[in-house]
Amino acid sequence: MNKEIAIELKNIVKQFGDATAVGGIDLTINKGELVTFLGPSGCGKTTTLRLVAGLELPTSGAIFIDGKDVSQLSASDRNVGMVFQSYALFPHMTVLDNVIYGPVTRGENKKQATERAHEVLSLIGLDGLSARYPSELSGGQQQRVAVARAIVQQPDVLMFDEPLSNVDAKLRRKVRNEIRELQQKFGITAVYVTHDQEEALAVSDKVVVMKDGQIEQVGTPEELYAQPNSRFVANFIGDANLIDGKIQQNKFIAGDWRVDIEGDESINASISIRPELIKVTPNETDLVGRVMSATYLGSKMEYEVKTNFGELLVSTPANDERFSVNSDINLLIRQQDIIRVS
Ligand code: ATP
Repeated sequence: MNKEIAIELKNIVKQFGDATAVGGIDLTINKGELVTFLGPSGCGKTTTLRLVAGLELPTSGAIFIDGKDVSQLSASDRNVGMVFQSYALFPHMTVLDNVIYGPVTRGENKKQATERAHEVLSLIGLDGLSARYPSELSGGQQQRVAVARAIVQQPDVLMFDEPLSNVDAKLRRKVRNEIRELQQKFGITAVYVTHDQEEALAVSDKVVVMKDGQIEQVGTPEELYAQPNSRFVANFIGDANLIDGKIQQNKFIAGDWRVDIEGDESINASISIRPELIKVTPNETDLVGRVMSATYLGSKMEYEVKTNFGELLVSTPANDERFSVNSDINLLIRQQDIIRVS
């Protein structure tokens, strides 16, 4: 089934003077999808979001929303909603007045806007608070009001700019799940910016990993975790062991360790392996390491293990057998858990 395209970016470039914030990106976002831009500070994710919103105009390239070229339209001429990290609620207005402000200023009948506002507020369990002022709400509640206010405007696209930055750490998981639930319930196309990889994995249909104004990889959370196509993505999404070695006759070789891999070319190569996929076994293996540190992290143990080709991070469930510092352990890495990275 062909999915309907909601947003298309075609070779988008954004320069600020000599500095290139976004260096030519192509991307398609389907209707009803939540797509997250993820990357380190300065990689261009906020600029990309602002370009889609119309808060910045591209230096070159084109942006289409619902098939219409909006490249040169300002934010007020695009039907987009924004949820900011600062909530940006009007402090002197009640929750209800905040929520109906947009539709009413756009000329919608107040009664009709109020009905829709109550509907959205009750869906997110905030209808009982509609007469309160923002100062009488928790951070998480204020952000939910900001989301309700954006949804009531029935935008073609809803933008989230680091929406959880100001929400109390303990509430973040709850609010992010609520945002995801609302976005799915209303079938809204959403663009979301965060630098928190766990948050990106949790809320997204697709994640766009950015680096230096370019897209490194686009994929579902699972694809990015299981099949990162570069060292950068492997490292940025979760923890990864990056091992440099060489490939010879269908073997990857690092130090004394060798493992089957596709490819009989004789070249230097790198692989990535997740810490939880390295097994500690009582049987003898050709990969022996010495435990340099053992850290208890609640649900798991993390070990730094020194091998003859470098240090590996190994994690095991906390209930499994424990290994003490300076002990030698046998490690097993399965061929199917190895990812070749560039
Ligand atoms: P952060 O997580 O720190 O917000 P980001 O990935 O969102 O980072 P952007 O804000 O998009 O990054 O910035 C990308 C690059 O463009 C940075 O080098 C930044 O300094 C530069 N930049 C962004 N906005 C402007 C501006 N208005 N004028 C000049 N340079 C800018």
